[in-house]
Amino acid sequence: MYDYLIIGAGLYGAVFARQAADAGKKVLVIDKRDHIAGNVYTEKVEGIDVHKYGAHIFHTNNQEVWDYVNRFATFNRFTNSPVANYKGELYSLPFNMYTFNKMWGVVTPDEAAAKIAEQRAAAGITEPKNLEEQAISLVGTDIYEKLIKGYTQKQWGRPCTDLPSFIIKRLPVRLTFDNNYFNALYQGIPIGGYTRLVENLLAGIEVRLGIDYLEHKAELDALAEKVVYTGPIDAYFGYRLGALEYRSVRFETELLDTPNFQGNAAVNFTDAETPYTRIIEHKWFTFGKDEQGNDLPKTVISREYSSEWHPGDEPYYPVNDEKNSALYAKYKALAQQETKVLFGGRLGEYKYYDMDAVIAAALAAWHPYAARDTASEHRP
Ligand code: UDP
Repeated sequence: MYDYLIIGAGLYGAVFARQAADAGKKVLVIDKRDHIAGNVYTEKVEGIDVHKYGAHIFHTNNQEVWDYVNRFATFNRFTNSPVANYKGELYSLPFNMYTFNKMWGVVTPDEAAAKIAEQRAAAGITEPKNLEEQAISLVGTDIYEKLIKGYTQKQWGRPCTDLPSFIIKRLPVRLTFDNNYFNALYQGIPIGGYTRLVENLLAGIEVRLGIDYLEHKAELDALAEKVVYTGPIDAYFGYRLGALEYRSVRFETELLDTPNFQGNAAVNFTDAETPYTRIIEHKWFTFGKDEQGNDLPKTVISREYSSEWHPGDEPYYPVNDEKNSALYAKYKALAQQETKVLFGGRLGEYKYYDMDAVIAAALAAWHPYAARDTASEHRP
């Protein structure tokens, strides 16, 4: 008998498991894949940590989370500065003075601000109602047309006018020559890869792989007092209210016998015609070197294709538009009636979580259990 059965060995499950185990609880973690680490899983290929389910760059402003992850990994000083390729024209991302200079030839921040203001006024947007209007009011129509529109429509498979504006607010806009993609105090890649980070989180905890929880639910539930479920919330309920929409991603990964393919970890192809959204060259997350500091002679690249999720595909991104948010709210109400089960993580909460927010959520979810147990221990 276990105190906790945790479904999913990704970041949410692994952090919750660590906290429970450290509090003396008996924990079993299961995952339907044959490996731990969920979508942050990395695999070594020719000394390169390949991000198998898409690039993950850790960044946070949360001191507690940063201190926490540093107990389980050492982070390098990688700073994300993607390059946008629009039909062969290269632009600096996120939107900063280098981008504005290349787009308009402007030299000073005042000139850039004036250009954006002029384009915003011409578009006549006062209160942005969707991603398109939000983007134009932040950076103007030229940048929207060349660097946002095509990429976003490929990424989400929907017109920008049908998407919520919060998605584009993830990207900073700066009137400085600062091309650090994230406005975060801390940033880096765990040395040795994310798989090792998760291995360290799960040290000493029983993990069983290749087990599909929903197929063996009754017998698995009988093993534990409480269940932490990090799979898709609609799948848990047998899609009984209908399926939530997700975006899936497909990767075409190649090992190339060349030391430098594109000179950067991420190049975004922002036109509508190129079928993939971006190319990741994994070795640049570790500055082209292996863990011993040797230069890597080869390179691994992944072309990333975004697609609508169908049953059997891997879900990656929740589509937090109005329709899906309303359906999720109904599933959430059902979830709240499951007294034995806690739903967490990107799929369990149908939320476009970053890694640090997932960890913060798992820590916050653990606290009430810890508090309750401490309180009961102190009862006479
Ligand atoms: N985006 C864009 N152009 C880019 C990069 C991003 O228009 O070159 C938009 C797009 O809508 C995307 C959103 O910004 O979905 C968030 O991008 P981010 O890089 O944060 O997404 P993730 O890395 O999570 O896929």
